[in-house]
Amino acid sequence: TERTLSIIKPDATRRNLTGKINAKFEDAGLRIVAQKRVRLSLAQAETFYAVHSARPFFGELTEFMASGPVVLQVLEGENAIAKNREVMGATNPADAAPGTIRAEFAESVGENSVHGSDAPETAAEEIAFFFAGLEIV
Ligand code: ATP
Ligand code: MG
Repeated sequence: TERTLSIIKPDATRRNLTGKINAKFEDAGLRIVAQKRVRLSLAQAETFYAVHSARPFFGELTEFMASGPVVLQVLEGENAIAKNREVMGATNPADAAPGTIRAEFAESVGENSVHGSDAPETAAEEIAFFFAGLEIV
């Protein structure tokens, strides 16, 4: 069993989609073992997305992530990282498979409703960035 970090992004919290997105995770066999709703500062968003700092969309991405509440989550299950990315769908909603979160809910390639870690190393780093061990049950 594996853990991954998930973020329900501001475009989705604004449209009251937290419950519908969580249902997709749980239906796929992912267990929500930690969850908190916070508003990220711009500095926190910049640190979290530092890997993208050279990309042309970095400013847009970090300002968006700090523009409203997000729901930070740890998801647990067999192959949780790959399973979560499958349930999320492709980054660009135009390319996302039918039934995926991004196909159903995302507004654009930038405002695409969810984040999920992309590998075991980044999952461990991203979980530690937001959660203490005692918060994950
Ligand atoms: P995430 O890391 O959020 O789970 P991802 O792994 O599918 O998404 P990345 O390539 O890591 O995609 O990009 C990180 C985020 O940056 C995307 O989810 C999206 O919000 C934003 N982004 C990516 N490409 C673009 C773009 N061309 N224009 C605007 N924003 C973008
Ligand atoms: Mg990514």
